[in-house]
Amino acid sequence: MSLTFDLHAHSNVSDGLLTPVELVEHAAAHKVDVLALTDHDDTAGLNIAREAAQRLGVQLINGVEISVTWKKRTLHIIGLKIDPEYAPLKTGLAEIRAGRHHRAVGMAASLDKAGIPGSLEGAYEYAQEGIISRTHFARFLVNSGVAKDNKAVFKNYLVKGKPGFFPHEWASMEDALSWIIGSGGVAVIAHPGRYDLGRTNMLLLLEEFRALGGAAIEVVTGSHTVDQYTEFAKYAHQFDLKSSLGSDYHGKGISFMEMGRLPALPSNCVPVWHDWPEAV
Ligand code: AMP
Ligand code: MN
Ligand code: MN
Ligand code: MN
Repeated sequence: MSLTFDLHAHSNVSDGLLTPVELVEHAAAHKVDVLALTDHDDTAGLNIAREAAQRLGVQLINGVEISVTWKKRTLHIIGLKIDPEYAPLKTGLAEIRAGRHHRAVGMAASLDKAGIPGSLEGAYEYAQEGIISRTHFARFLVNSGVAKDNKAVFKNYLVKGKPGFFPHEWASMEDALSWIIGSGGVAVIAHPGRYDLGRTNMLLLLEEFRALGGAAIEVVTGSHTVDQYTEFAKYAHQFDLKSSLGSDYHGKGISFMEMGRLPALPSNCVPVWHDWPEAV
């Protein structure tokens, strides 16, 4: 019997709607056997999720999704099987989270200028104890009637050239990979099809990622089209990278994809889990 993997999902420690425990329960209900909790720039949910995972028979993989600036673009690098106690990783993520607060203040100032007050407090109310992200600003903008839905927010606000955008420098790719690999984990490029890099930059990215010890790219993800599964399976093959699969689940209504609904990796892919004990 083959196992169902989902190696990309968010709890409310970052910008998901479910608590880490509820997320594991959701995964179990959707027949996910191996789940990676990959909150943005934070690992605080892992210990909380582990107890629920043991109770429900879900194999939990320690994960994180690190925000990176590469060639002035924001990329997301996932670490799987990381050690959340590894000091350089811990310190690095804490710095990114501090930067998130600074960015949020700038975003709110930009929204203020556009005649939309109260967004900093509003967004933090949704973020609660977790990190502050554009998703929380989006919830504020939708629930206060400024925008119709999440899609409208990411079209008309919070993106380059629109109210609420504030430029920000995240971690470098070198640092993110050194934290992940140094902690014993494997590095995966999240949703490569979402970056709109063009072929030349995509080739440069994959070359550099591989040279820095990167292990895999997401081939099947909630934010890829079926054609992109094939496209990125080819890139993985070309660069001798393994392939990953994950829903990028954030919760009902704000997800790219429900859990447990993704198709299998294309047959020419080597799964990132091919040599993991969880896979047997
Ligand atoms: P941040 O890391 O604070 O810039 O927030 C990025 C998050 O916003 C992503 O992880 C997604 O959850 C969400 N997001 C970004 N773009 C979109 C979009 N076009 N539609 C829905 N959610 C988005
Ligand atoms: Mn997110
Ligand atoms: Mn992402
Ligand atoms: Mn994600």
